[in-house]
This record gives sequence, C-alpha cells and structure tokens, in this order.
Amino acid sequence: MDDDEAFRREVRDWLAANLTDEVRGAGGPGRENEAFAQRLAFARRLAAAGWSTLAWPVAHGGRGASLRRQVIFHEEYAESAAPSRVDHIGITMVGPTLMDHGTEAQRARFLPAIASVDELWCQGYSEPGAGSDLAGVTTRARLDGDEWVLTGQKVWTSLAHVADWCFVLARTSPVVEGEPRHRGLSYLLVPMRQPGVTVRPIRQLTGDSEFNEVFFDDARTSADLVVGRVGDGWRVAMATLAYERGAATVGQQIGFQRDLDDLVALARGNGAAADPAVRDRLTRAWIDLTVLRSHTLRSLSAPSPPPGNPSVVKLLWTRWRQGLGELAMDVLDAGAPPEAAERWRKFFLFSRADTIYGGSNEIQRGILAERVLGLPRQARR
Ligand SMILES: Cc1cc2nc3c(=O)[nH]c(=O)nc-3n(C[C@H](O)[C@H](O)[C@H](O)COP(=O)(O)OP(=O)(O)OC[C@H]3O[C@@H](n4cnc5c(N)ncnc54)[C@H](O)[C@@H]3O)c2cc1C
Repeated sequence: MDDDEAFRREVRDWLAANLTDEVRGAGGPGRENEAFAQRLAFARRLAAAGWSTLAWPVAHGGRGASLRRQVIFHEEYAESAAPSRVDHIGITMVGPTLMDHGTEAQRARFLPAIASVDELWCQGYSEPGAGSDLAGVTTRARLDGDEWVLTGQKVWTSLAHVADWCFVLARTSPVVEGEPRHRGLSYLLVPMRQPGVTVRPIRQLTGDSEFNEVFFDDARTSADLVVGRVGDGWRVAMATLAYERGAATVGQQIGFQRDLDDLVALARGNGAAADPAVRDRLTRAWIDLTVLRSHTLRSLSAPSPPPGNPSVVKLLWTRWRQGLGELAMDVLDAGAPPEAAERWRKFFLFSRADTIYGGSNEIQRGILAERVLGLPRQARR
C-alpha cells in the first residue's frame, strides 16, 4: 500500500469512527440550516483532528497536504455522506486571503479561530445595486479615530445569521471622474455581533432562509482591520474569490454522483425508469458528469489550467445540476415517499440559484467571450 492509499484509509477510518447519524447527509445547497448545531460540532471535531486545514501551509498551522491528498480527503468525505461544511467561508476564503494579503497581527488574531471553527465568517460583497457590477458598492466606511465606521446595506449574505465576522467590501474614498470605479474600495473585517449590525433573513423559494440582508448603521471595526492597502480592496476581494475553487470541487462532484445515484434508485423504484425518455436523460446525466469529473481532475493536476477554466467548470456544473433538478421533477411524477419528494423539490428549486451566485452564467460567458475568444469588450460604466 503506498502512502496515499494509507492516507485514504486514515481518512476513511476517522470518518467511520466520528460520523454520527444526526449529521450524516445533512446540509448542502438549499439545506444550510439543517442540523446546524450538530454540523458545527462535527466541523470542530474535524478541525481538532487536523482535517479542516489540510490544504493550509504548515507555516500557517495547516498540514500542507499535496493536491492528491486533498482530492483523496474530499473524495472520502463525500463518499461517506459526511455533512455539508459550515466552516468553508473561513477555511477556503478568508484564511487564504489573510495568509497572502493580511498583516502578521491579522493572521495571529484570526487564523487560529478560523482553523478551530470557533469563529464563523460571511461574505459582504453584494448590495441591492451591486451584484455582477460589484464595483458599484455604496456601503461607506470612514475613519473615526482608531476605528472605521460603516454605513450601508449588503444583501444575499449567506450564513450572516450565524457568522461572527464578515469581510466587507466598502467604499473608503469617493469615485473620481475618469478613474475606474473600483479604486477607493477597501476590504474590511467587521465583527457581526455589535449594535450597528442588523441581520434580516430573506425567505427563499425553498421556504428556508439561508441568506440575509445585512444593515450597517454606524457599525464599527478597528482601524487596523483593513486587509491590503486602504483603497486597494478590489484586488484583495478578487483574490478571495479565486481561492474558493480548488480540490473541494472534486468532493462537490462526488456529491453530484450521489445525487444521480439516488435519482436512478428512485426512478427504478417508482417505475419512471421504464420511460425511454427518462432512461435517456439519466444516461446523459451520467455521461456529462463523467466528462465533468475527468475534466476537473485533469485541469487540477495540469501545470497551468486551460484558459477560462473556472468559467467553463462553473457553466458545466450549474447546467448539469439544473438539468438533474428538472429530470427529478419528471421522475417524481411517478410517485415518491414524502421525504424523497421534499428533498428533490428543494434540489430543483435551489438549483435555480446555481446560475446566479459565484458570478452569474451570463457573466461567465462574458469572461470567456472577451478573455478567451478575444471578442470586443462589452460597454461598461
Ligand atoms: C444562493 C446565493 C448565495 C449568495 N451568497 C452571497 C454571499 O454570501 N455574499 C455576497 O456578497 N453575495 C452573495 N450572493 C449574491 C451573488 O453574488 C449575486 O446574486 C450575483 O453576483 C448576481 O448579482 P445580482 O443578484 O445583483 O444580479 P444582477 O447583477 O443585477 O444581474 C441580473 C441579471 O442580469 C445579468 N447581467 C448582469 N450584468 C450582465 C452583463 N454585464 N452581461 C450579461 N448579463 C448580465 C445577470 O446574469 C442576471 O441574469 C449570493 C447569491 C445567491 C443566489
């Protein structure tokens, strides 16, 4: 048995010994509030055993694992039906941002609590007037002595209702005529539990509330909690988005495989699989997922990924999930136990959001058109 296989066994054994029925299969897109307290406790156990920060460099308290081992971990995690992670914003977005752009003091203050999952984070970018056009954020921050004072509103802030901290993109100096609008934005770390912050849940199509409106009314944070230079927050904000993609994508796709397997089982059980059109679509879903997984593994291990790859992968997986959701609705027509019906309805409804968050699919196609195909640039404000 080579070292990687021994590592795989170690992961599998740990999960088998620590995974309990109360968290098995819990959480995920559209089900983020499911068994939250139990999933948080599980995330802390995972952290204490050193699994959460597998990909972090040793110098920052991680295990500096190779890409191969990260993939193995995510494969085993997804195969075992371990719960959806509650700590991913901290571990995969804020942590790496602080390692590359934070000060020594910021790293010392925040990395240990991110690693141990003692502090949860949310992402404060989008606003009612700034989503795809993120440079249009109008939340303002001004210095008052040794503190920043924030006023404005964020929206669609996932998990803000459970977060201790938020990384906020805010305007710290006015837009200057003739200069790019993203100048003058800063990246601030803001404590959520204070009188100046109000979190109001947004009720979603699924009936749940996973994201929120967040209002800053003279909210305060310390002057030294700006990441990168004041006015240079755009660069840091873009870096945070780039860290989000990586080996975890492989685990996500194994989750997709489980979804497909479950739908196949449902279609066999309720007779829908006898319909040639359903059989054809299930088979196509399997083929498309196989291609997506092969592409992802190949591009992750390539010395330099193919041009526009993050956009290509996002377009492929979101289209796949929406297709599976639509197929599930047709399979459900042949009947299903209430629990399965509820799960697939939520899947279908939430999959409508897949083409919006993380940069909408129209924006991804725009990126490919301009940066890969060299088509003329779209008019911008
Ligand atoms: C489930 C979910 C979770 C989210 N979580 C967070 C979070 O935690 N933190 C956070 O900050 N944000 C979050 N968001 C917000 C998300 O980033 C935005 O919804 C997204 O960037 C789109 O912005 P918008 O909703 O303002 O739509 P708009 O930008 O107003 O777009 C509306 C429509 O116009 C299209 N469009 C816009 N510009 C162009 C263009 N240039 N070319 C072609 N078409 C265009 C879009 O594709 C879309 O179809 C989340 C969203 C969802 C759905």
